[in-house]
Amino acid sequence: MRALLVDLDDTLLDYSGGVDEHWAAAVRACCPPGGGVDAERLVAVLAKTRRWFWDDPARHRRERVHMLAAWTHIVEFALERLGAAADGLAPAIARDFAGRRREAMRLFPDTTTSLTELRRRGVGLALVTNGDAGQQRDKIERHGLARFFDAIVIEGEFGAGKPEEIVYRHALVSLGAAAREAWMAGDHLEFDVGAPQRLGLRGAWVDRAGRGLPADSSVCPHRIVRSFGELLAAGD
Ligand SMILES: [Mg+2]
Repeated sequence: MRALLVDLDDTLLDYSGGVDEHWAAAVRACCPPGGGVDAERLVAVLAKTRRWFWDDPARHRRERVHMLAAWTHIVEFALERLGAAADGLAPAIARDFAGRRREAMRLFPDTTTSLTELRRRGVGLALVTNGDAGQQRDKIERHGLARFFDAIVIEGEFGAGKPEEIVYRHALVSLGAAAREAWMAGDHLEFDVGAPQRLGLRGAWVDRAGRGLPADSSVCPHRIVRSFGELLAAGD
């Protein structure tokens, strides 16, 4: 392995952990009892609304580069479903949620040691992440990740996101590496494994939950690991 492209959220950084609890806490903080909006009903409707909102690939692509606005839209849709009109409530809940997420997010325990070891081995490293420019850059700075990477490609800064070919090609050019000598690792089967494999990279799927490949998966990873660090421990 001469070069490695790595995903950020749920690969190096625990992004999804605690998300349900943070939504519930944000709603309860912004909807006091007797205030006109039943917090527990809103929490339940929000859970369904979030799934519906992000399940649409076109909407996902459009909204993920402006996360605070996306979270506000989700709460607005949920309030609409409840038939509750509440001026200023949706942005207030979205801001509260964003603050809780920012405070709670942590690198996975093996992230720093694994990146340090990859640097020691002289592997060219590119961070390749979809999403909001401000939020992704903030995560990278807050968790001290920039020092490990020769290239950082953020969808919101670059203007294109995974699984568009130009994203992986740009990362490879930045590293001065050919596709055949590079790997990509991440938790998204299509974005982090299938799409880069079609360009000639090898793909490692981080299956943190250990659920295994879905029965209908058309993607066949070169390696399946339970954590980013395990990829390294397996040796190369
Ligand atoms: Mg990810």
